[in-house]
Amino acid sequence: MNRHTLASLTKHVTNVAARITPGEIEEFTEAARALGEELSLWNRFAIWTQRPSARHVADLETWRHEHLCEPAPDAVPLAVVSPDGPLMHVYDRADVRSLTACQACPAEAGEECEPTCPALSFGVQDPAEVDEDEVMTLVLALLRGTAQPG
Ligand SMILES: [Zn+2]
Repeated sequence: MNRHTLASLTKHVTNVAARITPGEIEEFTEAARALGEELSLWNRFAIWTQRPSARHVADLETWRHEHLCEPAPDAVPLAVVSPDGPLMHVYDRADVRSLTACQACPAEAGEECEPTCPALSFGVQDPAEVDEDEVMTLVLALLRGTAQPG
């Protein structure tokens, strides 16, 4: 597994910012809203660069104890900057499997829910308010090297 360090994650995020297109700014803004305010905009950008489709992420402890889920065998941990330093990993909803049978679709324990399963939206954070100006401010700070990771 290719694990980031703080330096490699910062470099990766900066490289993506350097070639971001207007369409991608729009896509990231939508992802940043869905990912919620618990994560900094920097961390939401880091997640988006690693998994553009991620909309609900949590750390392993939260998945295990609050949602009774385990990462799938091929799950890809997404690196973010941790307040307890330097990095921690979160998993996207698509990469975890429930330890119990789904109540809302025919998925058995350990199986992936159907794409339209209403349970897929469980626990989704309140959407954050993010506009494209804020995203541009982050992108410019990344390019100037003035964005504080985390
Ligand atoms: Zn389901």
